[in-house]
Amino acid sequence: MHFVVLTLFKEMVETIMNTSIMGRALDKGLISLDVIDIRDYAENKHNRVDDYPYGGGAGMVMQAGPVYKACEAARELIGQGKCINENDETAGGTETVEPADKKRTRLIYLSPIGRPFTQEVAKELSKEEDLIFLCGHYEGIDERVLELEADDYISLGDFVLTGGELPAICIMDAVARLVPGVLSNDESASDESFEGNTLEYPQYTRPEEFMGMTVPDVLLSGHHANIKQWRREQSLLRTLKNRPDLFEKVELDKKDKKFLKSLEE
Ligand code: SAM
Repeated sequence: MHFVVLTLFKEMVETIMNTSIMGRALDKGLISLDVIDIRDYAENKHNRVDDYPYGGGAGMVMQAGPVYKACEAARELIGQGKCINENDETAGGTETVEPADKKRTRLIYLSPIGRPFTQEVAKELSKEEDLIFLCGHYEGIDERVLELEADDYISLGDFVLTGGELPAICIMDAVARLVPGVLSNDESASDESFEGNTLEYPQYTRPEEFMGMTVPDVLLSGHHANIKQWRREQSLLRTLKNRPDLFEKVELDKKDKKFLKSLEE
């Protein structure tokens, strides 16, 4: 999985992505990351990439020109932009060609107006070979370059952040941990929240007693079927309480229905 991030704050992306499990995945070559500084494509000597919005209003807008050039640089890096066919002697090694064999890489604009990011979307994105993330700042980006370049709009949630960097990092993290080998066995991605539309059951580790609170007996019993049943029930309870919207989508089997009925008695 190859990520390319277009940003005004390169260091922010690189620092976080080089930490912990993502850092290890990068070191092992299981994922790769290129970060492009949009400011490198500024069109003036002051390196400014923003300007006042037409029509007035608060804040600044990132200009189309530098963002467009940064997007094209990202596509070229992946091998999709215009490239020089160095091996074609008949063209004197200078012909400009579009590689036809590669499908257009999805360029995602992080934005509150995008579709909401979920585990399902993470799974969908994990099937791509390359992903390009475009991070906005200030009041956002000139609409015209988004029309040309953005293939997908994704929001991290119904709130407004100062930039698209944190959403891009969150999405890369969620996607990368689905790439085989990124998580060790101890950090398995199976049996987690959102599998089957449920939230995860409570987890415990040593010591058996903490500030007078003990670990549920069933988890110490070694009885695998009972542990599995207890965990399922806890998942259902948590989902019902915290996410009734998700609970509506849970496929309940006979045992689940019996358990839920017992709560009403
Ligand atoms: N004026 C924009 C609006 O009202 O929708 C918000 C701009 S925001 C201050 C600056 C940048 O942060 C956006 O261009 C976007 O890239 C990013 N951003 C902010 N909130 C986000 C969210 N919830 N999800 C994804 N990106 C977000």
